[in-house]
Amino acid sequence: MLFGYAGHILEVNLSTGRITKTPLPEDLARDYIGGRGFVARLLWDRIRRGTDPFSPENLLIVATGPMSGHLVPASGKTHFGTKSPATGGYADSNMGGHFGPALKYAGYDILILSGRAPGPGYLFIEDGTVELRSAEAHWGSGAITAEEELKKELGDDFQIITIGPAGENLVRFACVSHDFGRQAGRTGAGAVMGSKNLKAVAVRGTGGLPVFDAEGLFEKGCEAFEKVKAKPGFAGWTPEGTAGITDWVNEVGAFPTRNFQTSFFPGYKNINGRAVLEHLKITDKGCFCCPTPCGKYGRAGTGLGSVYVEGPEYESIALLGGACVLESVEDIAYANYVCDQLGLDTISAGAVAAWAMECFEKGILTEEKVGRKIRFGDLEGMVYLFEKIAARDGIGDLLAEGVMRASREVGRGSEDFAIHVKGLEWSGYESRNAPGMMLAYMTADVGAHHNRAWALGHDVAGSAASVHDLISSGGSRGKLPKATVTGKAERVIELQHIRPLFDCLGICRLQYMELGFEAENYEELFFLVTGRRMSWAELLQISERVWHLTRAFSVREIEGFGREFDYPPPRFFREPVPDGPNEGHYLTRRELDTLLDEYYAARGWDQNGVPTEETLRRAGLADVADALRVEK
Ligand code: SF4
Repeated sequence: MLFGYAGHILEVNLSTGRITKTPLPEDLARDYIGGRGFVARLLWDRIRRGTDPFSPENLLIVATGPMSGHLVPASGKTHFGTKSPATGGYADSNMGGHFGPALKYAGYDILILSGRAPGPGYLFIEDGTVELRSAEAHWGSGAITAEEELKKELGDDFQIITIGPAGENLVRFACVSHDFGRQAGRTGAGAVMGSKNLKAVAVRGTGGLPVFDAEGLFEKGCEAFEKVKAKPGFAGWTPEGTAGITDWVNEVGAFPTRNFQTSFFPGYKNINGRAVLEHLKITDKGCFCCPTPCGKYGRAGTGLGSVYVEGPEYESIALLGGACVLESVEDIAYANYVCDQLGLDTISAGAVAAWAMECFEKGILTEEKVGRKIRFGDLEGMVYLFEKIAARDGIGDLLAEGVMRASREVGRGSEDFAIHVKGLEWSGYESRNAPGMMLAYMTADVGAHHNRAWALGHDVAGSAASVHDLISSGGSRGKLPKATVTGKAERVIELQHIRPLFDCLGICRLQYMELGFEAENYEELFFLVTGRRMSWAELLQISERVWHLTRAFSVREIEGFGREFDYPPPRFFREPVPDGPNEGHYLTRRELDTLLDEYYAARGWDQNGVPTEETLRRAGLADVADALRVEK
């Protein structure tokens, strides 16, 4: 008996309509825990080398973890994995809400989607009943609207994931949406879902889950909620959510502004967490079983109209606000809503719009090519671009490719300020004076995403201080000295194992990372749920195994993959920050090489960033080592 898990994998071939339910293999649970680990192993095993991300042969995997759906804090996370249409390599994205627990209560830890439905469809799952139904009536609807429509049809107790027009039209940064404002945002999972003609998955589960020690879990689980609420950071985090970090990021000069031209936004007080509270918020909104509901649901009134929206959370403030220079929180919330309806990842959409605006400013994109003027700070221009992108209409067809491909096509130096790594647009931390964070972005397995390792706090504080401590300290308000480059690898690697471990367990990391809810609590809860006594260090070893595996996947799938793919765009190693706390700072190419050299050595990868055979074998990946050797 696998305690903690639902015990089955559900596979649906959308081309043939074949539906299979198989037992969850014990060795998969033992060696990869769940969520991200399941996704990484299954993608490696089941995707044929060279598969086109938009072909029916690509897989979209939805995976839960052993802790998902149990009485432990914040156990509502669900993981999505695929071969990315943005990077061509390993991709995963994590989503909050209630979908994962519902999938488990229906009896499934993992849902594997392959093939392509003959016409627009949605997958209906109600315990043992699994059907592919027509979605003709919903095709073309916004992601939020489609969820509303399906809830009306099926009932409020169905948990539903949807895509918007962006996913239908294969925009490379389309997201999967859920719960009216939660997304698996990054790496283009929504576009893969669109390529399968799948508008939605609706699930209702009424079953239970086997627990190793139900009484113990009830006692310790309830205690855990009280412990989280007693943390000093609790009172600070819950009212403003992630938006609360906006001030601090500006004060340490890491806020992406004007397409990352600079790192300080003078009007940041108008778009911070306080502004969300004062101008937007109606209520808090949280995921399944969460004691710290970080979602802020509110109403935004702008010159373009008013909308109800969840957010903006910090990343949307940074990319839609800072990078595109929107000066009011209402405008940012409106742009956020438009992205949510269209099914666009707000991070990539903001980065793409910012790149296009800079191109326009420099005369690289013209009014004739774009169809109108697009300038920084112009909400109407942004909405125009987002609608064009989602429809792949005119200029939108170019921008729907993301900044890496669009800049390669446009040329004229625009590649230098196309802010991405590996084809994934950079998220909300400008890092020219934050070498640890820069290294984290460079080496993140999915491309330039902060959530693998948020090393900015370490860069600023030089310690493992919690975000709460850093914010309370107020950051630095003066000009900052240039940061040291050496000695960053160890901390970045440590973080790259910690954060993704939560994605394996199927729970939110915020309570650990931001509030300092201690590791021993997770060891205990994991034991009570699964019956496996594993130390934090042993759990992290599994996370390390997954890290080597995802790198190996990209080595296998991307021609010539290696060190060259890890560099940031030239803006970051050629242009000093022009103003703000980090004025004059940047990292030279030589400094970037120092970061990478130390990182590869500490990882046990060769100088091209490829895991060595010895490292793979030591990590329990002998078969992966053999496969890479054969393909060399
Ligand atoms: S902290 Fe926020 S993201 Fe995490 S589970 Fe709670 S509501 Fe969801």
